[in-house]
Amino acid sequence: MKFGVLMAEYRCTVCNYVYSEKEEKKRFSELPDDWRCPVCNAPKSLFVKLTPEKGVKPVSNTVADVFIAQMIEWGVKYVFGIPGTSALGLVDALRKNKDIRYIQVRHEQTAAFMASAYAKLTGHIAACLTVAGPGATNLATGLYDAKLDRAPVLAITGQVERNRIGTGASQEIDQHAFFEPFSVFNMTLISPDQTTNLVTSAIKHALLLGGVAHIDVPRDMQSLECKEKIKPFKDNIPNRSITTDEKHLKRAAEIINTSKKPVIIAGFGSLEAKEQVVRLAEKIDAPIVTTFRGKGVVDENHPLYMGSHGTIGSTAAAELVRDSDLLIVIGSSFSDLTQIPQKRMIQIDIDPMMIARRYPVESGIIGRSAIVIPKILKFVDKKERKDYRKKMSELKSRWLKLLEAEADPISTPIRPQYIISVLNRKLDDDAIITLDVGENGWWFGRNFQMKSTQRVLFSGYLGSMGFGLPAALVAQLEYPERQVACITGDGGFSMVMGDFLTAIKYDLPIKVFLFNNKNLAMIMQEQKVENYPIWQTELQDCDFAGFAENCGGIGIKADDPRELEKVVDEALKFDKPVLVDIDTDPRRFIATD
Ligand code: FE
Repeated sequence: MKFGVLMAEYRCTVCNYVYSEKEEKKRFSELPDDWRCPVCNAPKSLFVKLTPEKGVKPVSNTVADVFIAQMIEWGVKYVFGIPGTSALGLVDALRKNKDIRYIQVRHEQTAAFMASAYAKLTGHIAACLTVAGPGATNLATGLYDAKLDRAPVLAITGQVERNRIGTGASQEIDQHAFFEPFSVFNMTLISPDQTTNLVTSAIKHALLLGGVAHIDVPRDMQSLECKEKIKPFKDNIPNRSITTDEKHLKRAAEIINTSKKPVIIAGFGSLEAKEQVVRLAEKIDAPIVTTFRGKGVVDENHPLYMGSHGTIGSTAAAELVRDSDLLIVIGSSFSDLTQIPQKRMIQIDIDPMMIARRYPVESGIIGRSAIVIPKILKFVDKKERKDYRKKMSELKSRWLKLLEAEADPISTPIRPQYIISVLNRKLDDDAIITLDVGENGWWFGRNFQMKSTQRVLFSGYLGSMGFGLPAALVAQLEYPERQVACITGDGGFSMVMGDFLTAIKYDLPIKVFLFNNKNLAMIMQEQKVENYPIWQTELQDCDFAGFAENCGGIGIKADDPRELEKVVDEALKFDKPVLVDIDTDPRRFIATD
């Protein structure tokens, strides 16, 4: 092996440590599976590849070519978008460079959702690229999703030529003003010698602040000559292995040591520290409750896992949290849906502004959970709480029986709880599951028992319908070997269904399970609860299976619950995009104990 030519670098998405094959004289792929980040102890699976082995060179010396090469150097693998008049130079630079993939979609909203979902899945950054005007405005919903869920995204838009800005030119809008409310970085490229600085600054802002970085590139700029040198990632971005000092970590451990009934609430920020969260729970013998976004931090059949907390939570989680004398909240932003009550509290979060966001905390620790939890672990006492364990096990089995009772396997239309229970049994242990917003996501959050090797992606704070399909597309692109299941509804799917064609075009064998209840069923439910007449929530039915077939995929109808298991088995076997159109009951039948 010639180490002199090894150039690939890998970024730890937890702390930004860069593994350089050239410096370490060893390929990343040859490191053992249990190798860990030397700085923050993150597993190998949380690393992303930055640069290709042979290094990065612009294809020519235009602004567009240098721009794209700089993105590649900083690890951007995908650009999602639709070609258009004011972005032609950048699109052509993507055509010429083989180290980046351009994915053409049918609506720019899909491009933005894909970039946001990619960031949520990998902790790294992807880009979306559109034409000025309508292409730029169509990105807004997906980019707001990224902003609210703190997902790093690079948004690039074309703009009219510099000498036409302000003249009311075709497709010209004030893009700077448009992007400003939802961007952490928002700049226009006005000079060729700005190119590498602007691209690296944009990515740095998006990664470190967690959000959308936007660059406007006027059409005439894209073909100008650029003599800028590509800037490396390594040494241009800080390491984030920050934690609170030992005195505060010891104080937190003391509080844990004196508590009788502690409960761990694990949010999205704890997903990077799955093993550590479980180790902490086992050492102090405390139950783990997750938020909706924290689902999957621990196998749901782990004896200390008690379900989610909040509106879609379990009765077990609700009771344990109510009776607890200490909440250890890890990486949760206290969404009103999670409904964390005011209690004695320890909070761990990467964002100082999240500490004591809703209630005072006795100990607020700033830092990445993967780094902080092992340090606290050293100071906490090992506990064995027999009565507490007994109570947990009773509460959990009561909750699981209740879910089983709800999953009526014979009613028609098919009960959503039954569909979830079938998917629960059939999906792979390492499936990536993408959700929409509405009854499908609600039932998934409440009734699906996740494994820690599965991942779920959805639109968290924005709660946007239409997220499921784009997220499935990008998950399958990034993980061609893993099963990707999109759980969606007729409402959410029909908002983005044109992009089922994207699955066909790029050979992405996603499996779409469409809960077709012919309604905006969640809104219908709200009309009922709030005593409004049911109105305008029925949806025109559509032959979705036929639609999938007409696109070139596989479409399967499921209206007999007794056939559902067989249909799901069959769907999962295809190596093509599949849509299963499931005749679903729009009503909520909830079992109580
Ligand atoms: Fe690290």
